[in-house]
Amino acid sequence: MTTLAVPNIEARLLDILGPEGLMLSAAQMAPFLVDHRQLYHGRARAVAAPRTVEEVSRLLAWCNDERIGVVPQGGNTGYCGGATPDESGCEIVLCMRRLARIRSVDALNYSLLAEAGCTLHEVRAAADAAARLFPLSLGSEGSCQIGGNLSTNAGGLSVLRYGMMRDLVLGLEVVLADGRLLPCAQALRKDNTGYDVKSLFVGAEGTLGIITAANLKLFPQIRSSATAFVALPDIAGAVALLSELRAASGDRVSSFELIPRIAVELAARHIPLVADPLGHPHPWYVLCELSSSEEGTALAEVLERALGDALERGAILDAAIAQNERQRQALWRLRENIPEAQRRDGASLKHDLSLPITVLAQFVERAAAWLDANVPEGRLVAYGHLGDGNLHFNLNQAPGADRTRFLAREAVVKRAVHDLVRDFGGSFSAEHGIGQLKIDELARYAPPVELEVMRAIKRALDPRGILNPGKVLGTEPP
Ligand SMILES: Cc1cc2nc3c(=O)[nH]c(=O)nc-3n(C[C@H](O)[C@H](O)[C@H](O)COP(=O)(O)OP(=O)(O)OC[C@H]3O[C@@H](n4cnc5c(N)ncnc54)[C@H](O)[C@@H]3O)c2cc1C
Repeated sequence: MTTLAVPNIEARLLDILGPEGLMLSAAQMAPFLVDHRQLYHGRARAVAAPRTVEEVSRLLAWCNDERIGVVPQGGNTGYCGGATPDESGCEIVLCMRRLARIRSVDALNYSLLAEAGCTLHEVRAAADAAARLFPLSLGSEGSCQIGGNLSTNAGGLSVLRYGMMRDLVLGLEVVLADGRLLPCAQALRKDNTGYDVKSLFVGAEGTLGIITAANLKLFPQIRSSATAFVALPDIAGAVALLSELRAASGDRVSSFELIPRIAVELAARHIPLVADPLGHPHPWYVLCELSSSEEGTALAEVLERALGDALERGAILDAAIAQNERQRQALWRLRENIPEAQRRDGASLKHDLSLPITVLAQFVERAAAWLDANVPEGRLVAYGHLGDGNLHFNLNQAPGADRTRFLAREAVVKRAVHDLVRDFGGSFSAEHGIGQLKIDELARYAPPVELEVMRAIKRALDPRGILNPGKVLGTEPP
């Protein structure tokens, strides 16, 4: 899409957005032109920051008329380059951060209506102030926005209990490519009036419409919890333990995170105040948490009993149960700092995989054997949200390995890992989407009919291809 020929772009944008809603200088635009992981660098004609839904609507109507590409950007914490413009310098970045009001909280209906530019932290705080919980929980909550969370269908640490972002939304308000408003942000739990149109925009990464507000589901606040760090001989044992704990606790397992020995070592080596919670090394661990909205529940006893039984049977090797909030936070500090510890340790090749939980152990065994035989420059650091079948299947540069030679293996490793994931019935993108990073993977692994359906939806909603051009489905004409 070329738009440099459009005259008076700045004047028209000023007319729609006013001076406070427009950034034109290189210094103002710089932070919007590179993604969080610094994998992609783009250029832009302008950064537009509308303050009202009407401004979004007028902006899109005009961009559609002039065929100007619009790249929505939330907190810019996405991992796939979905919010970074291309290098043409013709696109407009649509910054959502000024559209950030909590419009209403309905505590009795357990719902909250927020504008798309609210950060996840602001939404969680607004729910908290009404004695409710908004359960989406990501390490990026201070920066990422509700619009970005919806557009990536974000996951995080509480999916096992509450589901992904798609499961947490009741209604969406969306501005379509031609500027028309889809005003369906109702707070209904039941609404069977034809197709579920809102669902199309969740996980669409800004390619089908601009989300301007969302009605979100709230839950009772957590009033009691119990947290344990458990050592296990293998992944199969962790999968079995999850099943047992769910049954023993009245399905109150809210997190169940798989951690390999190497991740504990990396975190203890690179992150201050992190130590191995258990006395001896073991091959695998899980960090599991039970939680309830009921005050004073005996969750700790439930956990202790279940883990005691498992220890007696030899199903687990050791366990430490947090005795207070400080110990609980220390366990979570270990888990949450694994990505940072990995980063400090050297280069890594990352894969965000989802697999049926029952084949996880077999998959890791097969993939690890392939890596051992074929990539001596790397060592496997596979951890993740085991309860959701979501593995961060990462390969770190081995000690002494040459960084450039290691990184040069990226394409070969990705192909082998993703092909194996397909053979096991899994997905190459569990919670981070497609963006620019995984366009080729989508083209390779999605069933052709599914791709045709996606292209038909894109054509119907964005016939001129102005919305986040080139992302998800690539650059071919829609
Ligand atoms: C420390 C850290 C921890 C993280 N942990 C997790 C995790 O546990 N689970 C997880 O799923 N992700 C995680 N992420 C990734 C990231 O935070 C999520 O993908 C998040 O949902 C992105 O939100 P954002 O507002 O930053 O979106 P951006 O990165 O700005 O944009 C993401 C995509 O959404 C589109 N978009 C943004 N706003 C809108 C809108 N209003 N309308 C239409 N399209 C829009 C953009 O064009 C882009 O395609 C983590 C990131 C970091 C840095």
